[in-house]
Amino acid sequence: MKKFILSLLIFILLLSFSLSQDIPIVRIGISKIEREITLSNVGKIHNSYIEIEVGGNGILTIKEIENDSVILNFGKDILILTLPILIYPQKDKIIGINSYYYRGMLEINDEKWLINILNLEDYLMGAVPSEMPPYYPLEALKAQAVSARTYVLANLKKHGNFDLCSSVHCQVYKGASYEREKSNIAVKETMGEVITYNGQIIKAFYHSSSGGITENSEDVWGGYYPYLRSVKDVEELEKDTWSIFLSLNDIKNKLRNLNINIQDMFDIILEKSSTDRVKNVIIKTDNNEFVIKGTQWREIFNLPSTLFKIDINNEGLYFYGRGKGHGVGLSQEGAKFLAEKGYNYKDIIKFYYQGVDIQKWY
Ligand SMILES: [Zn+2]
Repeated sequence: MKKFILSLLIFILLLSFSLSQDIPIVRIGISKIEREITLSNVGKIHNSYIEIEVGGNGILTIKEIENDSVILNFGKDILILTLPILIYPQKDKIIGINSYYYRGMLEINDEKWLINILNLEDYLMGAVPSEMPPYYPLEALKAQAVSARTYVLANLKKHGNFDLCSSVHCQVYKGASYEREKSNIAVKETMGEVITYNGQIIKAFYHSSSGGITENSEDVWGGYYPYLRSVKDVEELEKDTWSIFLSLNDIKNKLRNLNINIQDMFDIILEKSSTDRVKNVIIKTDNNEFVIKGTQWREIFNLPSTLFKIDINNEGLYFYGRGKGHGVGLSQEGAKFLAEKGYNYKDIIKFYYQGVDIQKWY
């Protein structure tokens, strides 16, 4: 019995050791297949019924998807396969999708999504330079790599059948064609590191530029997180300004889409957060009052941020603002300035996320 318990214990220890060493595999939605796509360097494809070796340079074309089947064309052959299908690269090669390359393998699921399945570190090598200019200082890129890794692990299964999509909705990822030497070093030198608060992986939100001050999470999305507190950012970002003019007609047309009909006479009031960002835009007419969330207003009028003032005249509205993005968590341009001032990536992360630790997760 003792022997059994001992071997069981060793087994569990070995299992947990091997699990803790494994790099997680992630499933990234590249796009929904709407038109013909050419793949290259394909070694084999299989679904639950059949496995097919693809010879030569592994070029095949996805012609179209009908109901639950995909129509493929390689060489002179046309194949109709039931979805989902898995697509593997040729040995030591990277699969091409049109003229871009993606590490790991691909899946086409029965909802027509082209999904890239690969290990998290390989994914980050494509995501970091897609999210931050790869010529930024190495310590800023390392802060970005750790934030992006943390973001992924906190958002697994965000899309149900896959983890993250490859657009700004989740995290921008353009694959191996966008990899650069410096951003690859940033990923490798921080391998497996994530940001934690009380031992838990945090929601590592980040944005382009704070415009001088970052925002408390609850003032943007309503959720309070102790580590997502407003901080005064580097002074350089106060000069990151923008201005946009919208005519009264532009405003009325856009608001009509929200079923808000305003007459010629209206008043506009901005309700601000403690950092001066617009929480709500209140539009007052003679007999009505409409409240629009600042984040929604930013989206409708395509404004760089919610950190703005307005000036109204007879022709329209001038918006004078600072920064780019939602303003919560790490500011990418701020990280660049901090790195130039000599901060290392851990200092940068701790500057933007309060009371956190950087922990090796695998
Ligand atoms: Zn998404």
